[in-house]
Amino acid sequence: MFPNATRQLALNFDISHTNDTASPARHGLTEADVAAVQQKRISSYLSMVLQDEVEVFFTDNRTTMISYKKKSGVLKLRLHKMFQQADDTILKALSVFIRGIPSIRASGKLDEFIKSNQSQIRVRTERRRNPVVPEGDHFNLENVLARVSTAYFGGATDAVKIGWGRLRERRGRRRRTRSRALATYCFEDTTIRVSPVLDSPRVPDFVIDWVVYHELLHHILPIEKSGNRKRYHTTKFRTLEKGYPLYEEARRWEQKNLDWLLK
Ligand SMILES: [Zn+2]
Repeated sequence: MFPNATRQLALNFDISHTNDTASPARHGLTEADVAAVQQKRISSYLSMVLQDEVEVFFTDNRTTMISYKKKSGVLKLRLHKMFQQADDTILKALSVFIRGIPSIRASGKLDEFIKSNQSQIRVRTERRRNPVVPEGDHFNLENVLARVSTAYFGGATDAVKIGWGRLRERRGRRRRTRSRALATYCFEDTTIRVSPVLDSPRVPDFVIDWVVYHELLHHILPIEKSGNRKRYHTTKFRTLEKGYPLYEEARRWEQKNLDWLLK
């Protein structure tokens, strides 16, 4: 009765509203209480309509509103938490969708329901898009950027923003290449984020310059794609990277100081 593969209904529109999710808690019920009640209601309704055991889970997904999978005879249905408010008409449409019966009416109903509840869809976490602060205790990154840009890029890096990143971005992760760990360049917002560990008098100017130089190369050089792989550090990149006058010194300094930098 059910197609074997996981099916899902995805929403692929950009959500640009502010996330004003009012607490659904009513009558002193917590969000979890409400969810438990709705989970029971929806599970029993769908089990009845589909004549099959259905287990409902609520998600806070951003794009996949509905997905399901049959596992050990149980239909595991993952629904965006907005479905806690779904009435029987919507649940009926949902059952049609799950059965895999093509129905414009049913999918139209689901679409409409999702659209009218889209304020409940979590807005993309803008972690990478937080405005960055260039002033540190020791370095002002805007000065560093200006210096490096003028010296090596003819000052043609106007679009680039720079600031101190967050420490936790690196913590607990596998060490990536040194420079990636010490700074990142984000293509989406053309922003260089430098690890705050470098905001220290222990870091020589030529090193902070070198880190920014590396990230600026990412800004000016295109990414090479081969199949699914994206190459950031292309041959050309590596060649230009070595054009930094104190390249060897900077790398040596980095090697010597990695321990406290990446601790
Ligand atoms: Zn890099």
